[in-house]
Amino acid sequence: MSQSGQHFVAVIGGAIAGSVAAEILADHGVRVVVIEQNKRPYGKIEDGLPRWHVEQRKQEYARIDERLKKPGISFLPCIKLGRELDFHKLCDDWGFSGIILANGAWRDRALGVAGSDEFIDKGLVYQNPFIYWYNHKNENAYDGPRYDPPDDTLVVGGGLASIDVVKALQLEYYERALKARGIQTHFHELEKKGIPAVCKAHGVQPQELGVKGCFLIYRRRAQDMPLAQPPENATPEQLQKTEAVRVKILKNAQEKFLFRFQDRRLTQGLIVENGRLVGLKVAETLVEGRKASAIPGTEHELRAPLIISSIGSIPDVIPGITMKGEYYEFKDWDMAQYSHNDRVFGVGNVVTGQGNIRASLVHSQKVVNRLIEQYIGVAEETDDTGETDFSAFSASAVARGVAQAEAVREKIKTLPALSNEQIAKIERRIQGLQARVGYTGNYDAWIAKITPPDLE
Ligand SMILES: Cc1cc2nc3c(=O)[nH]c(=O)nc-3n(C[C@H](O)[C@H](O)[C@H](O)COP(=O)(O)OP(=O)(O)OC[C@H]3O[C@@H](n4cnc5c(N)ncnc54)[C@H](O)[C@@H]3O)c2cc1C
Repeated sequence: MSQSGQHFVAVIGGAIAGSVAAEILADHGVRVVVIEQNKRPYGKIEDGLPRWHVEQRKQEYARIDERLKKPGISFLPCIKLGRELDFHKLCDDWGFSGIILANGAWRDRALGVAGSDEFIDKGLVYQNPFIYWYNHKNENAYDGPRYDPPDDTLVVGGGLASIDVVKALQLEYYERALKARGIQTHFHELEKKGIPAVCKAHGVQPQELGVKGCFLIYRRRAQDMPLAQPPENATPEQLQKTEAVRVKILKNAQEKFLFRFQDRRLTQGLIVENGRLVGLKVAETLVEGRKASAIPGTEHELRAPLIISSIGSIPDVIPGITMKGEYYEFKDWDMAQYSHNDRVFGVGNVVTGQGNIRASLVHSQKVVNRLIEQYIGVAEETDDTGETDFSAFSASAVARGVAQAEAVREKIKTLPALSNEQIAKIERRIQGLQARVGYTGNYDAWIAKITPPDLE
């Protein structure tokens, strides 16, 4: 450790990016407070990664815990930047050497049709609250919004997260339908073995159950879905091969989870009846490269009892933070230095949203593609243990966080050191807030106390 106590950094958000940044700084003698809005610090891993990834979630929790328990790091839960903590005050009054925004991407990108958000929870649900509900709904103490997704839900999406949504719906539908037949299954079994295989084991044909299933629409072509990635500087043959792999993965996912899919559909308008969204007006698209434009004269209606929009996650708007389009305004994207304050930086998903896997993963394209197949649950082989291992996904988030945090560390080193008195003053303020939320400074005891006993 060098220069212990000479700099003090506030990290907003305690999940992968925040804990990685905190660890790197603390390992270099910088004092750190990790300010987290939730009681538990696990971010997307707990609230975004569907709960069938049991082992993966546990492993990531343990990794985050280890980092946050490092000497020199204080944890401050239940404090949200923009709610209990004002951004300008944090920058100007507290006296921190630097502030790292590691608060992820929790705002759903809008459906893209004027007025659509008036129908949130009146026919329209966004992916982030939906998966949050899905992951926590069975906890006794859960008091968030409740969804009872009806059969035939329409999902607008196309990325990996929309496949998570579609899977969650299908598992719900079939678990429910089998139960109505007196057949007890578990969503884990349905997810692992696939719906047709579980039905077969119980002597039932899926069609007999009367489930229509959800319907996923995507604005580009099936072969454009980000379900496999081409190598860097791919040749036309390699691109063609990647497209074929994407189509195959989608087909395998449909066969295993029985959802319906339609590509080349762009949302153009809303169908509203009695104050409720009851469908979308969509048009067929012409796809040229990344561009998908509506073909005039092809507009038609898609009616559905519920619409789930899953078209990407972007950072939350925080009062005082200037935005550039959907993102915070950074002047230097490598280091993610905030344009309006040289001591404010970004790490992790907050910088570019849920970045694309190719950009964020440090692994070879072959490994990435296998990981995606395993993630969706359609890989032909698993590893020696029979378990799937997605740690490379979080490894990529970690690697990205490390690179960004190292750059921030270099920058902070050049800033004037804080006096012991300044450090002590910040510490007193943190302790005051910790006391207010009932955090005694013992991380393990806190996690044990606030973790719901029935958390899945
Ligand atoms: C199976 C798997 C698949 C993955 N797939 C992808 C992928 O497709 N693409 C990709 O880029 N990465 C992927 N990842 C990596 C990883 O999930 C995310 O990139 C990573 O979790 C993002 O971490 P983060 O810390 O940036 O954000 P988050 O996990 O979102 O953490 C942000 C934290 O900040 C807190 N917070 C938010 N707002 C505030 C506030 N105002 N005040 C205080 N606290 C706040 C939140 O509560 C949260 O704890 C995957 C990982 C796994 C394990």
